[in-house]
Amino acid sequence: MYGHEETEKIIKHELCHYHLHLAKRGYMHRDADFKSLLAKVGGSRYCQSLPGAKARKPQPYRYKLVCTACSTEYPRKRKADPKRYRCGNCAGKLKLVALEEGKGPVT
Ligand SMILES: [Zn+2]
Ligand SMILES: [Zn+2]
Repeated sequence: MYGHEETEKIIKHELCHYHLHLAKRGYMHRDADFKSLLAKVGGSRYCQSLPGAKARKPQPYRYKLVCTACSTEYPRKRKADPKRYRCGNCAGKLKLVALEEGKGPVT
């Protein structure tokens, strides 16, 4: 739908919202802060979202990889082959544990 350049501009636009929102400055399209920052970085006039406008629901994790050595847990949204990963903490072996929503870990 958009070319590479346009995509980059839209990202800049989004970052303007994000940056100003974090800085607690005017991040709405009508705000002078937003307009000047957008002009400065050369962002697109087009917008995809406003911060907080559509709070993206975090996808619940359905699995976790658990280190068999140090018990560090790595939540996963999808099934993962534990043999293909190693613990980032101690490089130990991992095992896959399925989570069931609202019921805690299934053992
Ligand atoms: Zn916008
Ligand atoms: Zn570990």
